[in-house]
Amino acid sequence: MRKQIAAANWKMNLTLEQANQLVDELISNIDDLTEDQQVIFAVPFLYLISIKQRLNNKTNYFVAAQNCYFQKSGAYTGEVSAEMLYSIGTDYVVIGHSERREYFNENHQMLSDKIALCLQYNLKPIFCCGEPLSIRESNTQNGYVETQLKDSLFQLTAAQLTNFVIAYEPIWAIGTGKTASSAQAEEMHAHIRKVVANQYGKEVADSISILYGGSVKGPNAKEIFAKENVDGGLVGGSSLVAQEFLTIIKSLK
Ligand code: PEP
Repeated sequence: MRKQIAAANWKMNLTLEQANQLVDELISNIDDLTEDQQVIFAVPFLYLISIKQRLNNKTNYFVAAQNCYFQKSGAYTGEVSAEMLYSIGTDYVVIGHSERREYFNENHQMLSDKIALCLQYNLKPIFCCGEPLSIRESNTQNGYVETQLKDSLFQLTAAQLTNFVIAYEPIWAIGTGKTASSAQAEEMHAHIRKVVANQYGKEVADSISILYGGSVKGPNAKEIFAKENVDGGLVGGSSLVAQEFLTIIKSLK
């Protein structure tokens, strides 16, 4: 079975004390995960070590960075490299979140470079894709997402791609309270799997976890996650509230 994943994206929220409290509350209230389930915390860089330590004795709990720089090392004041993330035990890195594409002008070339560095340092990318509202309204979302996948991923080998998690996040649903319906999510996830299968074969496509992101909440998680091609969620706002995120974790297949 593919990994079923609840991934928290804290973005630029929480003090260190609040972050530690949130994780402690979550891990003291959650039953053990099954072998095929994972919980990932994508936290601000400076909390990675602390949160990793808190999760240390818990099986199938991981930390992710929310970004890394696209150059290997050097005079890039304020940036954080893939090698640095590897050196502190980071498991995953979110690549290409729509907020980074939009506010930090990240383009396909930068994303490809980041991915190459992540793979070099054994970091698993959580690759985000998804269309803006105008594209959804013109019903051209399938081609739009396909291009995002081709531009950033299709230079990889099949073996490299099996280390990936893909997150489909329609931009119009992120932080807006407007969720894609479970049918819309399933339709796009099936499309993404087909695009990957056409390039790499069915076995590779079937092995990749595809998460849905966009206003996932306690009450809607179960219905969305139940869909055949939805393997969990990448969760922003609701991952900051212990009871909400607990419900989301418990909604995993
Ligand atoms: C996200 O930031 O990846 C996200 C999906 O946010 P939210 O759950 O708040 O819509």
